[in-house]
Amino acid sequence: MVLKSRECILCRSLRQKNNQGLLVKGNYICPECEARIIALTREDPDYDYYKWGLKKIWYCPGA
Ligand SMILES: [Zn+2]
Repeated sequence: MVLKSRECILCRSLRQKNNQGLLVKGNYICPECEARIIALTREDPDYDYYKWGLKKIWYCPGA
């Protein structure tokens, strides 16, 4: 998909022009989600969701 990296893979917010964010294997992660991931703990209710989102990037066989 050509537009793959234009929206955050986790929250699907569109990448802004001056948005720093993170690019992992062509997948965009917005600064908000990046900060979220960094701050995540196992007790966090969102932990599984973000873990799942990152798995899509890092463990995707086709990536
Ligand atoms: Zn995001």
